[in-house]
Amino acid sequence: MKTVEKKIGIVWFRQDLRIADNPALRAACNLCDTVLCLFIDDPETQTVSQLGSASRVWLHHSLQSLSEQLQRKGAELLFAQGESEDVLQAVSQHYGATNLFWNRCYDPKSIKRDKKIKQSLSHLQPESFNALLNAEPWDALKGDGTPYRVYTPFWRMRSQSLPGDKPLSAPRNIPGIQANVSRSGNVKAATSKTNSSFKSVELDELNLLPEKDWHIDMMSHWQVGEAAAMSALKRFLKSAVHDYKDARDIPSIAGTSRMSPHLHFGEISPRQIMHTLSAGSDNLTQLTNGEETFAKEVIWREFAYSLLYHFPHTVSKPLDKRFDHFPWETRTAKHLKAWQRGMTGVPIIDAGMRELYATGWMHNRVRMVVASYLIKNLLIPWQKGEQWFRDTLVDADLASNVMGWQWAAGSGADAAPYFRVFNPVLQGEKFDKSGEYVRRWVPELEQVPNKYIHKPWELPPMERGLFDYPEPLVDLKESRARALAAFDQIKTPD
Ligand SMILES: Cc1cc2nc3c(=O)[nH]c(=O)nc-3n(C[C@H](O)[C@H](O)[C@H](O)COP(=O)(O)OP(=O)(O)OC[C@H]3O[C@@H](n4cnc5c(N)ncnc54)[C@H](O)[C@@H]3O)c2cc1C
Repeated sequence: MKTVEKKIGIVWFRQDLRIADNPALRAACNLCDTVLCLFIDDPETQTVSQLGSASRVWLHHSLQSLSEQLQRKGAELLFAQGESEDVLQAVSQHYGATNLFWNRCYDPKSIKRDKKIKQSLSHLQPESFNALLNAEPWDALKGDGTPYRVYTPFWRMRSQSLPGDKPLSAPRNIPGIQANVSRSGNVKAATSKTNSSFKSVELDELNLLPEKDWHIDMMSHWQVGEAAAMSALKRFLKSAVHDYKDARDIPSIAGTSRMSPHLHFGEISPRQIMHTLSAGSDNLTQLTNGEETFAKEVIWREFAYSLLYHFPHTVSKPLDKRFDHFPWETRTAKHLKAWQRGMTGVPIIDAGMRELYATGWMHNRVRMVVASYLIKNLLIPWQKGEQWFRDTLVDADLASNVMGWQWAAGSGADAAPYFRVFNPVLQGEKFDKSGEYVRRWVPELEQVPNKYIHKPWELPPMERGLFDYPEPLVDLKESRARALAAFDQIKTPD
């Protein structure tokens, strides 16, 4: 009698740390008798090695949460370290895997790696899916076949097909491998077919958490994981979203969704967001102003992914080539450090930078202001700011971060014109009128009267000495003029 080959599928988790609306997991459950869930800490690729310190902390907790979710459904999450291709090869031999599934990443390194793996492990019939975006970046092209460089027409095109495909429900149970991970890390699996030497590790052995305990305070601001992401979304959609159009610009209030780290790690999908938002409707026409503005912001993220996919060089180089020759300041160490530490002497900048350091997140309005200050007032290349954000944000995301920085520099797609230099005093006075945000993060200014809260250097000299706060690093007016003069040197189109 002919024996039917049992199918054993590997689900390789990356930026999709959830079980609902996870097409790779669903496909494996549909096709395979046994499903092996795997996370690889790969030093070679973007997914983990270039994660900054704050994101590594988030990743640790997110993996912990995913692992518990999977266990409840009957599966183990295995952790491994090493080059993805080698690990997948070893895992598949060890367990006699027949199939491989993953959800796509869109950064250049991951794309290159995944293409290679599709070839080298073709015997596992690798299948990839879209779980990170509402629609694929290669489907988002203009009529003439070129990628969008301006957001508004991108939104117009995308909004036609929203909310898009219905999200998948979580599998009822997952026929997992009963991996028995001993203390030494050897995997003894019930279904193990060969003696190959694959070793899994414990989550703690990935060393995602730093030795110092700063991360404990930072994480006290967050609830991590799939269930927490969905609850946060529902809470936001129940109330705050209705004022979102205006409230999203006020950094002192919780006027935004804080979905960004959940989206980055794939604890929630944009499809789930759009469907929860549209509440069963097959289009977005019923949305309130606040809801529509929120949908547009979520699609800004898709725009960022489209730019990353179509213009991968922009992760380090300006999209606008004129900026290749921009006369940046060269001796920047002191100013950069003051900016990073929130000690520039400009209250709204320091408040933002300290919020970032303490919570791993910064309000979008303030991100724009601190970026403009670094690039234009201090003339420090945007890449330095992008690096710092990458290290300190829990939502650090190559696509959105690079787009945000290039936007602020005036060198990206649909960017703010270079000559539009944010005035941090006016920004503070407009969006943090009573100085609540500044006082929260820069407590040494707590007693400064509202009139001076965004410009304490104008306090009468006698009062100035009462506050232990630095003098501004640079004069805002002079540094603005210097930035515009620098721009004059490159402004002729190529
Ligand atoms: C210099 C700079 C750097 C940035 N770096 C990042 C980053 O590394 N990761 C990141 O997720 N966002 C980044 N942003 C975009 C934006 O600041 C954050 O997405 C937003 O503040 C996250 O908070 P929220 O989830 O409460 O946003 P909400 O206002 O609730 O928006 C909902 C979602 O829409 C998306 N979104 C909103 N605004 C933008 C935007 N301008 N660009 C792309 N997506 C957007 C996010 O996924 C966000 O979670 C950056 C912006 C700037 C100006």
